[in-house]
Amino acid sequence: MSRLAHHRALVTGAGAGIGRAIAIRLAAEGASVTVNDLDPASAEATAASIANEGGRATAAPGDVSSEADVAAMYAAAEAAYGPVTLAVNNAGIVTQVPLETMDAAAFDRMIAVHLRGCFLGCRRAIGPMLAAGSGVIVNIASQLGQIGGTELAHYSAAKAGIIGLTKSFAREVSARGVRVNAVAPGPINTDLVRAISQEWRDAKAAELPLKRFGEPEDVAATVAFLASDDARIYVGQTLGPNSGDVML
Ligand code: NAD
Repeated sequence: MSRLAHHRALVTGAGAGIGRAIAIRLAAEGASVTVNDLDPASAEATAASIANEGGRATAAPGDVSSEADVAAMYAAAEAAYGPVTLAVNNAGIVTQVPLETMDAAAFDRMIAVHLRGCFLGCRRAIGPMLAAGSGVIVNIASQLGQIGGTELAHYSAAKAGIIGLTKSFAREVSARGVRVNAVAPGPINTDLVRAISQEWRDAKAAELPLKRFGEPEDVAATVAFLASDDARIYVGQTLGPNSGDVML
């Protein structure tokens, strides 16, 4: 497949789970991929597995909430392949804390990784894209940013913020050739969800119209579509690979 052969991608949080699947899918469709993760070893491992399959990938570790780290990962991407044409802001964390005991540090860190990280990534990516008159940004939100989540106020607020950021950037830059969209997955089988009890996962799966969770590859397919010219008319949208859990 070479649908994305024209793209030089940077995927954050691509050492595991959804980000890893996205990086692998983009590379399989012909993109060169810069693999970011906070954990350098996992970023290297994803890049190595792409290279083993004959794809082009390089690792660029760093914390998406740090302006300096974001600058460094983009500089690494540019040095390896040239200006980034496809930015996927995926890195994320989750903790479950009741609102009455949620401390400000936990709230701030959640907002920093998700919302600030997404802002910093978009802002760094956008300049070269506008200069070239083309580019694609895909931000990974969550359905919890659309419907809220119990003991997840910080996470839901950050994800709702990402959806707002996506719509605003899309309004601002679409006429200049850059398409910005979001993806809001439902429950997806990754370590992030496997950390929750089997009992909760069984109950949650039973209430889904599809009766099963998605796989990281399902989200990756959505991102690959949005990255491609097949999605040329999609602007400021939030696509929902979510087993039917949320229907908007
Ligand atoms: P995961 O924990 O499997 O992977 C997340 C990756 O991000 C890890 O490799 C981690 O090291 C990295 N990371 C964390 N903080 C970082 C930082 N500050 N800078 C760079 N990298 C960092 O999680 P996942 O399930 O693959 O989640 C990926 C994204 O999808 C997240 O934004 C998450 O909120 C979102 N999401 C997940 C689900 C789900 O059910 N799994 C549902 C909706 C949305």
